[in-house]
Amino acid sequence: MIIGVLKESYPGERRVALVPVVIPNLTKAGFEVVVETGAGSEAGYPDSHYTEKGAKILPGRAEVFSRADIIVQVLCYGSNDVTGQADIPLMRRGQFLIGFLRPLGSLEMLQQIAATGVTSFAVELMPRSTRAQSMDALSSMATLCGYKAVLLAAVTLPKIFPMLTTAAGTITPTRVFVIGAGVAGLQAIATARRLGAVVSAYDMRPAAKEQVQSLGGRFVELPIEAQNAQDARGYGTAQDESFYAKQRELLARAVAENDVVITTAVVPGKKAPVLITADMVKPMAPGSVIVDLAAERGGNCELTRAGEVINAGGVTIIGRINLASQVPYHASQMYARNLTAFLTYLAQDGKLQVDAKDEIVRETLLTRDGEIVNPRVREFCKLPTLVANS
Ligand code: NAD
Repeated sequence: MIIGVLKESYPGERRVALVPVVIPNLTKAGFEVVVETGAGSEAGYPDSHYTEKGAKILPGRAEVFSRADIIVQVLCYGSNDVTGQADIPLMRRGQFLIGFLRPLGSLEMLQQIAATGVTSFAVELMPRSTRAQSMDALSSMATLCGYKAVLLAAVTLPKIFPMLTTAAGTITPTRVFVIGAGVAGLQAIATARRLGAVVSAYDMRPAAKEQVQSLGGRFVELPIEAQNAQDARGYGTAQDESFYAKQRELLARAVAENDVVITTAVVPGKKAPVLITADMVKPMAPGSVIVDLAAERGGNCELTRAGEVINAGGVTIIGRINLASQVPYHASQMYARNLTAFLTYLAQDGKLQVDAKDEIVRETLLTRDGEIVNPRVREFCKLPTLVANS
C-alpha cells in the first residue's frame, strides 16, 4: 500500500505527519511513501531528506490523494475547520485516513468525512493502554504544549525564574502554579522546575498528587472531593457547576499568590471548566502571567481569548492555541513515531488490516463504508447504535 503525506493546510500549522527517519521502518513493513512537495519544509525536513530515505515527492495535493491508499495528516478535516473541507472531494471510498479528526467535535463535519467512504482512524481515540502507549499522539503533543507554555510564561514575565544570590542582593524564585496535572501539566511542572521556579500544582484526580510530588512540585490539596474524578480511560470527568464554583473559591488564594499560573484542565468532549474568574485575576501582582492551555476548548480562565494574548489590569493572559505547532521539528518527530507504531501495528504484508475485534482498531476506527462506526462517538453524538456494534 502507498502512504501519502500531505502538506498541512491549517493556517500557521508547521508540523508534518511523517518525518524522513521513519520511512525505512515503513518500507520494511511493506509500505511505499509519497510526500506532497514541501510537506516537511516548515518543520525542518526538506524534500531531499525524504527522497534520501526512499520516499517519492509528488508535485501537488491532488496527486497524493489519487496515488495513496492511506492518507496521513496532522490536522485532518474535522480538526481543521478552516481549510480542511477542500480535501473532502479528493477523498475516495476505501481509502484510509489517519490523523487528528476531532471525533467529539462537529457531527456535521464527521458526517461529511463518512460520506466520502473513507476508512478513517482518529488518533485522539487511542486507548490509554500500555500496548497503545507508543501510538498515543495526544500525549506526545500535550507534553510539548506543557513545555512550551512554561517558556512562553518565562519570556513574558518581567522576572527571572531561579533564585539568585548575587553581589547585588538575592533574587527570590518565581512561583508557578499549575492547574490540571495530566500529561501537559506534569511536563509544565518539570520544565518550570528546571528553570528554577518554585512549583505547586492542583488536580481534582487524587492520583495526580504522587506524580506532582515525584517531580518536585508541591501538591495543593483542596478540601473538596470530585465524584468519580477519573473515568475508565484515566481522563478527568465533568463535574457539576456547584463543584466548579467551590473550586474557584478555594483556588483564589493560590492563584493570587503565584507569578505564573498554567491551566490545563480539560474534560474530553466538553467545554473546559472555568476555574479562574475575572475577580480572581484582579489580586494577582502586576506583570503576572496566565497561560491557558485550555483556550481552544473554551478556556479555564474567564478572560482568555482563544488565539490571543491580552492584558487584564497588568496581568498577561496567553490564550494561544496549537502550541505543539510552535516546536514543529520535535512535534513532527513524535507524531511520526506514533503514526509509524500505529501503521506497523495495523499492517500485514504491507496492507492495513481492520480487525474490529482488536481493541486499538475498535477504539480508533471512526468512519467506514459511509458511516460513523465508532460506538463511543455515536453515543456522544446521540446517533442510534449500529446493529454491528450492538
Ligand atoms: P487531559 O488533557 O484530559 O486533562 C488534563 C488534566 O486536567 C487531567 O489531569 C484532569 O484530571 C484535569 N482536570 C480536569 N478537570 C479538572 C478540574 N475541574 N479541576 C482540576 N483538574 C481538572 O488529561 P491527560 O493529560 O490526557 O491525562 C490524564 C491522565 O491520564 C494522567 O494521569 C495521565 O498520566 C494518564 N495517561 C495515561 C496514559 C497511558 O497509560 N498510556 C497515556 C496518557 C495519559
